[in-house]
Amino acid sequence: MKAFYAEEQKRHDPKAFLSSGAARPNPEQPERVERLLAGAKAAGCEIVRPRNHGLGPVAAVHTPEYLDFLEHIYTRWQRIDGASAEVIPNIHPIARSGSYPASAVGQAGYHMADTACPISGETWQSALWSAWSAVEAAEVVMSGAPAAYALCRPPGHHAFADVAGGFCFINNSAVAAQVLRRTASRVAILDVDLHHGNGTQGIFYARPDVLTVSLHADPVRFYPFFWGHADERGEGAGLGYNFNLPLPRKSTDAAFLEALEVAFQRIHAFSPDALVVALGLDAFEGDPFGGLSVTTPGFARIGEAIAKLGLPTVIVQEGGYLCDELGDNLTAFLTGFGGKSR
Ligand SMILES: [Zn+2]
Repeated sequence: MKAFYAEEQKRHDPKAFLSSGAARPNPEQPERVERLLAGAKAAGCEIVRPRNHGLGPVAAVHTPEYLDFLEHIYTRWQRIDGASAEVIPNIHPIARSGSYPASAVGQAGYHMADTACPISGETWQSALWSAWSAVEAAEVVMSGAPAAYALCRPPGHHAFADVAGGFCFINNSAVAAQVLRRTASRVAILDVDLHHGNGTQGIFYARPDVLTVSLHADPVRFYPFFWGHADERGEGAGLGYNFNLPLPRKSTDAAFLEALEVAFQRIHAFSPDALVVALGLDAFEGDPFGGLSVTTPGFARIGEAIAKLGLPTVIVQEGGYLCDELGDNLTAFLTGFGGKSR
């Protein structure tokens, strides 16, 4: 299958990250791209550079004030005397009921959920090209390809309509789903990342046309904490169109595949015309986050199981962090899904 990726996606190079309050190197490193490219190639993918698709497909799921913020905040931040090299928030509104702040510091707190998504001079372009990889993968599937892979980096599923968070800026999976909606009446998003896809859930929470399903480590003691619980089912017209399957920490292949079957029942009942797989590989037993215990052969079985749904599928890269097996895990998933034969 085709795999979409642009060199610009590698330029974003975040340095800072706070974990349980401690400063650590940011795990969302450009090196991830090399491992994932090698993994995609080993699965027989043809690597294709996406075109510039403009702001339209991104603006379809993000607010204009947020996109303006992402584009310009780094330049504005540099004008602040003594400011950090990267844009990192240090104050947040505890509710969104107050005024929209005019200052760069205030807006950083308004639009950034945590300290894991520092913004440098390269971030905006990297995030845009990452989204365009998703756009083009969706377009190829709309044109009749059974599947396409978008090597999206930076990732996207923690980004809400107007909030960055957890290494994510533009929600690539949501962008892909919205592009698919041009021809598909109903689109399902299946998020198999270790972490709950809270941004994706948030974007479609009140909509019945996009079903959001997420399997992830139970957020009761895991990021993103405030979302991903089983009782979050959607709201308004979207009530019943969000489905969360939190898993106990260190769940193995068998438990993951069992939960996947439950997810498939919901997807089947929704009867979608197309599927987006938010493919995090951080559920891996050797991933630095260590939340779940999926094995490399497990990813092949997950890919195989998803392929059996028989839906036109856009595979969007989400998490999965530096470990020796990162590329192998992608190869396993894509090969299980259909790899060389599709
Ligand atoms: Zn993740």
